[in-house]
Amino acid sequence: MNFRPGDEENLYRDRMRALADSYGWPEMKAMREEVESLEIERYSMTFHRQLAEQGLIGLTWPSPYGQAARVDQQFLMAEELECQGFPGYGLTTNQRGGGMLLRNGSPAQIAEHLPHVVAGNWTYCQGLSEPGAGSDLLSLKTRAVRDGDHYIVNGAKLWTSSAHISNWCSLLVRTDPEQSRHRGLSLLLVDLSSPGITIQPVRVLGGWRVNAVFYDDVRVPAANLVGEEHQGWHVITGNLDEERAMSFGGTETRLLCARLIHRLAGKADELSESDLEVLGRFVMDLEADRLLYLRVGLAAARGEDTSGIGPMSKVYGSELAQRFIEWATELLGHSTLYPESEDVLASDLEQQLRVATVLTVIGGTSEVQRNIVANRQLALPRSN
Ligand SMILES: Cc1cc2nc3c(=O)[nH]c(=O)nc-3n(C[C@H](O)[C@H](O)[C@H](O)COP(=O)(O)OP(=O)(O)OC[C@H]3O[C@@H](n4cnc5c(N)ncnc54)[C@H](O)[C@@H]3O)c2cc1C
Repeated sequence: MNFRPGDEENLYRDRMRALADSYGWPEMKAMREEVESLEIERYSMTFHRQLAEQGLIGLTWPSPYGQAARVDQQFLMAEELECQGFPGYGLTTNQRGGGMLLRNGSPAQIAEHLPHVVAGNWTYCQGLSEPGAGSDLLSLKTRAVRDGDHYIVNGAKLWTSSAHISNWCSLLVRTDPEQSRHRGLSLLLVDLSSPGITIQPVRVLGGWRVNAVFYDDVRVPAANLVGEEHQGWHVITGNLDEERAMSFGGTETRLLCARLIHRLAGKADELSESDLEVLGRFVMDLEADRLLYLRVGLAAARGEDTSGIGPMSKVYGSELAQRFIEWATELLGHSTLYPESEDVLASDLEQQLRVATVLTVIGGTSEVQRNIVANRQLALPRSN
């Protein structure tokens, strides 16, 4: 199997490098400040709009919305930008909203939303989890009751990332409480400026803001139903497969690892044999993570079922990120404990140490992902 990119991919990589090189330190600093002010890891509205101007949102989507690029080309784009410290979370989250519509939306929904997605005007979040329904998503209680040509929505969602800067929420609701757990669910696209919606901040360890979102008699046009009524589980499993095919910590960790190696260049004799061995192992593990991530993307592009291998990549990348960052933080020692020392690498490691804690929870916990791998990939029977 040949993993080397061909000339066409290298041209793509060169294009991304040229884009990255066009940003100087003042622009990068302003972008970091914007990410901090939005309180969302790797989300800058300014950068998102600049990607839109370059036609880089929805790259793999068919014309007229995207450029029908191949998944490996999109992979190179994300890798190049994220490995150089650019904030790519907005790109993945909004592409997920558009991807859901391309898979399940009506022609009218696609025509309404996709031009705004690729122009970088509309942003999307995902309202699935509730106070009593995280891993066990099927026990969710938010209700939508049909009333003429609208649904009336009541309930509460928790942990909704980026709701405070989003225009739309893909909201999973119960439309038929009589049906068995996954049958009575539907997926509604909800305009977050609708009356009756309250968004409250919930802060997590990494300095990241998620949200509690309350829906109180919110009127949602029935035309915003995505897919068929009561078939929302089918719609959302496509989203979850796509989400679990994202990189969960691997790309940022590769960047931190490269910066650490740069710092240590010429000082190998100051490291113990065991530290050198551990560092070598991390470099190999990070490459394995990169290949797993690419494998999921390519399988998705071939139309294969990725529900078993996406979670493998998610568990591997997120747990590896945690292990590497804990080790690197200890290696650099006290400067990571006192980030005011103005050691930028130490300060970034300290921040990533906190951020990485959520990587094994967001998008489904490691325990739940392992259950899915056992069930879908290894075809092992469920325990109950
Ligand atoms: C930073 C962050 C951002 C998030 N963003 C979003 C978002 O945008 N939209 C959204 O809808 N949700 C979001 N989530 C929610 C996330 O998907 C849930 O937190 C996650 O699925 C776990 O659910 P829970 O927190 O309710 O924990 P619980 O489900 O209560 O789990 C508690 C513990 O029990 C374990 N456990 C539960 N069931 C099993 C089982 N069957 N087998 C083995 N162990 C089990 C879990 O692994 C965990 O350790 C986000 C979460 C975080 C932390």
